[in-house]
Amino acid sequence: MTNIFEKSKRTHYSKDLNTDLKDENVKVTGWVHEIRDLGGIVFILLRDKDGIIQITAPSKKITPELMEQIRSAKKETIISVKGKVQESQKAPKGIEIIPETLDIINESKLPLPLDTTEKVRAEIDTRLDSRFIDLRKHDVSAIFKIKSQMLHTARNYFYDNGFTEINTPKLVASATEGGTELFPITYFEKEAFLGQSPQLYKQMMMASGLDNVFEIGNIFRAEEHDTLRHLNEAISIDAEMSFKSQEEVMETLETLVKLILSDISSNCSTQLEELNHTLEIPNKAFPIVPYEEVLDLVTSHDVTMNYGDDLSRAAEKVMGEVMDNYYFITDWPTSIKPFYVMPKEDDPEKSTAFDLMYKDLELSSGSQRIHNYDLLIKQMNSKELNPDAFDKYLRSFEYGMPPHSGWGMGAERLTMVITGVNNIRETVLFPRDRRRLTP
Ligand code: ATP
Ligand code: MG
Repeated sequence: MTNIFEKSKRTHYSKDLNTDLKDENVKVTGWVHEIRDLGGIVFILLRDKDGIIQITAPSKKITPELMEQIRSAKKETIISVKGKVQESQKAPKGIEIIPETLDIINESKLPLPLDTTEKVRAEIDTRLDSRFIDLRKHDVSAIFKIKSQMLHTARNYFYDNGFTEINTPKLVASATEGGTELFPITYFEKEAFLGQSPQLYKQMMMASGLDNVFEIGNIFRAEEHDTLRHLNEAISIDAEMSFKSQEEVMETLETLVKLILSDISSNCSTQLEELNHTLEIPNKAFPIVPYEEVLDLVTSHDVTMNYGDDLSRAAEKVMGEVMDNYYFITDWPTSIKPFYVMPKEDDPEKSTAFDLMYKDLELSSGSQRIHNYDLLIKQMNSKELNPDAFDKYLRSFEYGMPPHSGWGMGAERLTMVITGVNNIRETVLFPRDRRRLTP
């Protein structure tokens, strides 16, 4: 039976071909990356999932009919080629295939929306409009293989350490931290919003007795600004742990980030090479810089910052220059952190909040959370939030809520760091930003 799947069934991926297979018959399937017709000889570079192999067709050795078929293979058409492996000094990997049969599996239209062989990448907008073909470039797909490994490692880590994976709703009735940055939607006859964070739900799960929960899910933020590190839809890796302190969940976060770095370094070396990126693996503890020290550092570099200000972009830039790679900022003023953040017991003006930074980029925010009902109400009032709007959340604090802490880390922010790209849009297949809602 020669249906289309029989026809396209390969014996090898290009990455598995090597000189040990010399003189053997193999079959490869993939896209025509490049075709060069020199008259007496035609070269096709055939590209598959993670490699490229050269097909060499000298007219001396090949029937005129097959030669004709080979010549008709257009760029980005999918072909399946059966032939013999030969050594060749000039070909990639030192081998080529001399074809015996060729099947056209599906033709590509020309001209292409994007040239897959160009050495310089096209404009990001052009690429995102034709993302499917942009991803055929191995240095682009490398980003997503690395992101996939990152999420895989994160899941493994959580499963190995007694966490339960949870999925919380993304359609919500009210804001997590108060009115701003939300996408309103129509929910039957009511107004609802897209969730900006699973924060309130993962805290409610602390009252469920599950102890350690994590979620890898979408968050939606109606950020107006167009920056290289903000999206309107992102993936958040969230963890929440009962009976664990700020310091303990910081340790969890640091361990996870280090594990991700080491897994990527051992499992994604080809992809890092494609991206020309050297992974930095810190071998000591992430430094801890208290907020007041940040304030001193920033102002000593002639950037204006007052106690109680969040880090401006200019302030982040200073920190990026001063700090090596990963570090924590701790002891944030309670006044600029969300209502659910636990103030420090001995100095309530300061909080248990922390941010994990990589140079000038915020990767994660976390804290010990308030588990005491009365304190939670007090903090809501001081932030001018109406406790009535949070009544279902608040109930979970009245019937035995454990002390707990947690954090949320932006998956795309971390992907930027581990792949070395500087525009967050590079790390999302189909980014949602201020101007982009399709594809
Ligand atoms: P920033 O100050 O950088 O805008 P944030 O403090 O508003 O971030 P948090 O609410 O603390 O963000 O969210 C936790 C993490 O989620 C952030 O540290 C970041 O990694 C990620 N994140 C938040 N907003 C976005 C966004 N718009 N696009 C991509 N990632 C985001
Ligand atoms: Mg933050």
